[in-house]
Amino acid sequence: MDKPLTQSEIDTWKVPVPGGSVLLAPADRLAQWARRNSMWSLTFGLSCCAIEMMAAAAARNDLDRFGIFFRATPRQADVMIVAGWISVKMAPFIKTLYDQMPEPKYVIAMGGCASAGGPYRDSITVVKGADQFIPVDVYVYGCPPRPENLINGIIKLQDLITSEHALTRRGQPLPPRTPIVIGGE
Ligand code: SF4
Repeated sequence: MDKPLTQSEIDTWKVPVPGGSVLLAPADRLAQWARRNSMWSLTFGLSCCAIEMMAAAAARNDLDRFGIFFRATPRQADVMIVAGWISVKMAPFIKTLYDQMPEPKYVIAMGGCASAGGPYRDSITVVKGADQFIPVDVYVYGCPPRPENLINGIIKLQDLITSEHALTRRGQPLPPRTPIVIGGE
């Protein structure tokens, strides 16, 4: 697996020129760095877990430092964070938005409800998890999970992106993704 970029590796790319320096780097390493560190997220707060998702983006936890910016359109989104319980009526809209996201795309199910139905699991109006209709890459359990749990899931997802990029670059087929589970023990 390719390692994530480090500052010391970036420093080796610096070429001095009059008045400063430029970076000369392998394009695939730069592409990996960019994809890993610019996961734009489709804004999708459904219920109470969305408050914790917003807290993750606010000043104390500052998701921006991971390159995560919330977008109001699926066309520019790399990752969908499904935060909250999913009503049966809402599920088709989530699926439509997922289908409109460009590849490669990723899904984080945030909270017990989005992961498996949570306390509403026996309700006939709530879907028993986002994976009933879209593929989920990261499950972040908790009711609600803390922002730190979500950030943990994002870091694990970044590692997944790095490993997938390494395989794609070598022309190797991608294996089926193994879901990442945060919390829930
Ligand atoms: S997991 Fe808990 S906090 Fe999150 S949406 Fe469900 S009931 Fe609300």
